[in-house]
Amino acid sequence: MQKESKWKSSDEISVLFLDDDQEKIELFEMAISQWQKYINLKITLYYSKRELSSRKNVIRVSFNEKEGRNYSAIGTGFNDGFFVKKRLNIAEVKENKIKFYQTSLHEFGHALGLLHEHQHPNAYDGVSDDQLKKICSMMYFIDVNDEHELGRCLYNIAPLEHNKKKYSISEYDVYSVMHYENAARKSEFPEPKHAMGLSLEDKTFIANEYPKEQPLDNEEIELMHNQDREEDLRWILETYQSENCKLERVDDKLYLTKVSYEKSKTVRIPSFSHLDSWFDACKRATSN
Ligand SMILES: [Zn+2]
Repeated sequence: MQKESKWKSSDEISVLFLDDDQEKIELFEMAISQWQKYINLKITLYYSKRELSSRKNVIRVSFNEKEGRNYSAIGTGFNDGFFVKKRLNIAEVKENKIKFYQTSLHEFGHALGLLHEHQHPNAYDGVSDDQLKKICSMMYFIDVNDEHELGRCLYNIAPLEHNKKKYSISEYDVYSVMHYENAARKSEFPEPKHAMGLSLEDKTFIANEYPKEQPLDNEEIELMHNQDREEDLRWILETYQSENCKLERVDDKLYLTKVSYEKSKTVRIPSFSHLDSWFDACKRATSN
């Protein structure tokens, strides 16, 4: 959490949707409501500029696919910039619902003041500028000769200093929604496989940063966390169904079955982040 960008507990925050794609708005609202359960900020949603009562503390949300980039200002950074207003953009397509939802959780985390978890001071063993450059080139396909591109990549992946004045820092959490899935990390940590939604540490941390009048204790947070996961799973099982593609849950594992006249075929889905592409492939495959 970047301390200077943190909202005040009494702040009223407006989320203004600049685009009116209903399906995208619904997915984004799901993401907001997951964060909202754990914090005491008062967030009001607006669907047109005319309804806005204040020009301050406005998180402006666009769904511009053409920009090809997901991003957000950090917390109160939304109040900076007079001529060019700061925005949060989701460039994902709505067909990839899980990806859209996860990205919305991540970008809204930035809007709450959170920085990247893979830039946590403990995330790297020590990494040289050359190694970082290589990561930008190999993992993110950045043209490292383009100063602007390289700068933006380094800004998003280079480790931050241990500075308690500037940042409030959680335990390093490889499961955080603020962690890039393919970012470099110490070998001792597991591969960051995102469960659906926010990690337990994401919730504990944000509840601590924006405590409710009756602060949530760890036990309550854990209970709420388990409920969230059940809800998310129920949503997935309802959403990822079509005439010829059936998603089922057996003992906490997900199986996708392609139903056809000849014979059915079932595959196990290794993680939530794979579901969009598997489901898409299943639907597109001809049934004979
Ligand atoms: Zn980010």
